[in-house]
Amino acid sequence: MKLKSLEISGFKSFADKTMIEFMPGMTGIVGPNGSGKSNIIEAIRWVMGEQSAKDLRGTKMSDVIFGGTNKRGALNRAEVAITFDNSDHYINSDFNEIRVARKLYRTGESVYQINGVESRLRDIHDLFMDTGLGRESFSIISQGRVESIFNAKPEDRRGIIEEVAGVYKYKQNKEKAQKE
Ligand code: ATP
Ligand code: MG
Repeated sequence: MKLKSLEISGFKSFADKTMIEFMPGMTGIVGPNGSGKSNIIEAIRWVMGEQSAKDLRGTKMSDVIFGGTNKRGALNRAEVAITFDNSDHYINSDFNEIRVARKLYRTGESVYQINGVESRLRDIHDLFMDTGLGRESFSIISQGRVESIFNAKPEDRRGIIEEVAGVYKYKQNKEKAQKE
């Protein structure tokens, strides 16, 4: 499974539609301070279901929508889509290519799609759970997170190991079954 592309439109500093295609090997994103490097990482976290505006450096979720500059007015919609090559079916799906999209309007209306089909946040979570890619995973580690892992309580650190080992999903399913 490989990250193929990221489309960003109206999200944070990316007012115009921007397409980033990831080539085989390692990709580095470089640019001056304030040019949008962190916004790209946040776009990835957001499209995969991030729910915390604070973790996206905002106070409310609509802060991710392009808010305008002195040259250009604010937009009413943020849209991000991420495409994975899933020809090895690492993600539990029959599709060879998986495209997840999220849209948010200033009105608060929000839409998720998996391969063009409107989906729930829950479906996005299920798709990525235990792939090491999910919202709670460690595939994206911010500066502050490194410190919090070091300082975590033993039971929280155990949770990290369970997620990495892929048993977290089964624990969640067990808890769900016990409640039902
Ligand atoms: P550094 O090297 O300092 O870490 P960076 O390349 O990571 O910089 P970002 O933090 O991604 O830069 O981008 C910050 C820029 O994004 C700021 O100029 C900020 O005004 C702009 N920005 C953030 N949210 C929005 C928004 N909703 N609308 C317009 N611009 C925004
Ligand atoms: Mg940055």
